[in-house]
Amino acid sequence: MNTTVTRNPCKLCSPLGASLVFKGIRGTIPLLHGSQGCATYIRRYFISHFREPVDIASSNFVETTSIFGGAKNLCEALENINEQYRPEIIGVATTCLSETIGDDVPLFLNNFLKKKGSETFPDIIFVSTPSYSGTHMDGFHSAVKSIVEYYSHLCESADSSFFGDRSEKSVAVFPNFVSPADIRHLKEIILDFGMKPVFVPDYSQTLDGVSWNKYEKIPEGGTSRENLMSLREASFLLELGNSLTGMDSAGKFLESKFGSKNYGLGLPIGIDLTDDFFNSLKIISGRKIPEKYIAQRGRLVDAYCDAHKYLFGKKAVVFGEEDMVVSIAQFLCEIGVIPVLCASGAKGSEMRKALQQLSQKYKNEIVIRTKADFVGIEEEAEILKPDFLIGNSKGYTLSRKLGIPLVRVGFPIHDRFGASRILHLCYKGTQELFDRIVNAIVAKKQSESEAGYTYM
Ligand code: SF4
Repeated sequence: MNTTVTRNPCKLCSPLGASLVFKGIRGTIPLLHGSQGCATYIRRYFISHFREPVDIASSNFVETTSIFGGAKNLCEALENINEQYRPEIIGVATTCLSETIGDDVPLFLNNFLKKKGSETFPDIIFVSTPSYSGTHMDGFHSAVKSIVEYYSHLCESADSSFFGDRSEKSVAVFPNFVSPADIRHLKEIILDFGMKPVFVPDYSQTLDGVSWNKYEKIPEGGTSRENLMSLREASFLLELGNSLTGMDSAGKFLESKFGSKNYGLGLPIGIDLTDDFFNSLKIISGRKIPEKYIAQRGRLVDAYCDAHKYLFGKKAVVFGEEDMVVSIAQFLCEIGVIPVLCASGAKGSEMRKALQQLSQKYKNEIVIRTKADFVGIEEEAEILKPDFLIGNSKGYTLSRKLGIPLVRVGFPIHDRFGASRILHLCYKGTQELFDRIVNAIVAKKQSESEAGYTYM
């Protein structure tokens, strides 16, 4: 269907992705250059998903700023943040408004630091995030790259090293937009292979922390400045997400600058993709896969067999972030479910390629929609008649309309509790996801049956 407008897009705004990355860097305050509403919207999304307090500053555009430019506002915002938070880093991202009027933010920052003296001020990292030309994932990947580039310049003259000798098998991990629980799980796995990981970003603690006795303006945790300066020492780089193969990514940048080998892998969901992930770790570390993960894999295979009768031939609609969509679609094919419609708001050229290959491999008809919106997804879903949906909370309206379950994954999840602790990745995360899918199908059958079966 051809439309010229987007109605309820299947994506979120670019500075949201950048702000999430900044929340995963120790001592950092994100600052959005634009109007207050953008910061409020992003804070609201983070707070209702992660259930943590989230501070995001704004340079607070008003009518006159939109006409005469935002240099003065930006400088005032930087001063205020420095005074009130004393951060180590300020992460500046643009909004649609400041991009549209053409504010030259790098120039503003340069002038500001010249005047103030860069030694007396926190590090300021800038990322351009025009939301009208990208998704939250574009903002996310751009912010990761800006941070890595910024510290790669600084670290050339520094002598601090987290990793130490390259022979220690250190690995810099770019985990993509996954849950705090996923980041913790990936860390555990890499440590079990005897390697030292640095995650960029790492919001496993800042956005899923412990209770406090008093309010912390900047929560504990996140990738430290020292570790960012030591990325040049990483023996290997691990970049998760199929879409990064077609991008000028942080991993590729570090590989070309410092010579560490970059492993680009799909998000490890399902057995095939998780096997790829573990086999890469085996090669990188030179160690065997630890027994506990072999046991997790074994239990997952057993569960696939046990639940085959509930799932075989079922149809699903998958939507959300493109890398998550590709990996979940592959996992669904593996368990005998047909991902009849895969949709993302992203431009998604890598997603399209990967799903076309999947469609050929499993001989499944998959309708692929990039730059998708929820009105289009609904129209397709009404024709395709899926048994369930898998994606974020924005799909609830559709699930209610079609009377089918929504298995919640990704972001945002603001109509359920515990989104930070949803595990999606590796054998353990796949097991949890698999059990949730099977139970969603079984629960629907049970609730529709007049007999009131207690055995299903
Ligand atoms: S105006 Fe642009 S930057 Fe602001 S919230 Fe909307 S999409 Fe995001």
